[in-house]
Amino acid sequence: MNAPLVDPFARPISYLRVSVTDRCDFRCVYCMAENMTFLPKAELLTLEELDRLCSAFVRLGVQKLRITGGEPLVRRGILTFFEAMSRHLESGALQELTLTTNGSQLARFATDLAAAGVRRVNVSLDTLDEKKFAAVTRWGRLAQVLGGIEAARAAGLRIKINTVALKGFNEDELFDLVAWCAAEDFDLTFIEVMPMGDLGGEDRLGQYWPLKDLRARLATRYTLTDTPERSGGPARYVRLAETGQKIGFITPLTHNFCESCNRVRLTCTGELYMCLGQEDMADLRAPLRESADDALVERAIRAAIARKPKGHDFDYSRQRVDGQVSRHMSHTGG
Ligand code: SAM
Ligand code: SF4
Repeated sequence: MNAPLVDPFARPISYLRVSVTDRCDFRCVYCMAENMTFLPKAELLTLEELDRLCSAFVRLGVQKLRITGGEPLVRRGILTFFEAMSRHLESGALQELTLTTNGSQLARFATDLAAAGVRRVNVSLDTLDEKKFAAVTRWGRLAQVLGGIEAARAAGLRIKINTVALKGFNEDELFDLVAWCAAEDFDLTFIEVMPMGDLGGEDRLGQYWPLKDLRARLATRYTLTDTPERSGGPARYVRLAETGQKIGFITPLTHNFCESCNRVRLTCTGELYMCLGQEDMADLRAPLRESADDALVERAIRAAIARKPKGHDFDYSRQRVDGQVSRHMSHTGG
């Protein structure tokens, strides 16, 4: 019963991403509509239920836990959850506890997160221009995020910046972003915009800046060397000879990365998505609530992993958006 989780394509499942809330204090244009309807609070798993589920996954061999959202740091009481998860770090069962955040609340939380055993944080940031930042996040303030990043650094957290490549939006900032990350010693990863959710007429093809084009532009100024490094995830890395820095590319559309997928995603309502780009999911909330014993939920997790699909079907190549899924990224947790 304690055999580790392995899917039908012999991929060990060692990485769980957990969306702890669908709410956010920003409204990034590629992620949310301006007028979002959020889940009623009663639908959400409690922090205790999240603990039970995550702990079940850890027992079944998950070694890396990434907390995301929505904005994870706006979930009330979330620090208690991080503190509770730190027991799995202390026992050695969990190798990494980390989060993806928009950075807005980091100034408040960085020290306590570090004390709970968080060592690294991914901060999403698409521009260093105050006005553009306000436009792309709709509700965000750049200074607050930069302050949060500074607090995270001061707390000893390693920082990775995630930047969505957006045509006509941050193309002109490519070199500034790279230079800023080099100067600050932050890792940097670019992400292709994905067709998630219906955002009311957003122009996906218009936003899409293929990373092969971004990479070609980068190569006009820097010498790029591919590194064999893999994080067990979709990112592919290059090293810039001139600065020594590492740049990641997440290219769900120009490159399929599914063959090495080691992850599953849990939503804040207890739905387990075995693939970011497919509609199939397993409800873990019902078995969780049905019994205080974890046997039911462990069985449900195993049954879900046994149907993990080979990969997603996102495709822009025919100049239309194929393989689109109806969920927002904030629902599944990016
Ligand atoms: N609020 C946190 C944040 O922004 O980092 C965590 C959740 S957010 C959904 C996680 C990541 O998904 C962010 O880096 C965001 O840029 C990315 N994201 C959201 N919508 C996306 C889309 N349509 N395509 C590609 N990346 C997207
Ligand atoms: Fe919020 Fe993150 Fe989505 Fe932006 S990308 S709206 S910060 S959840």
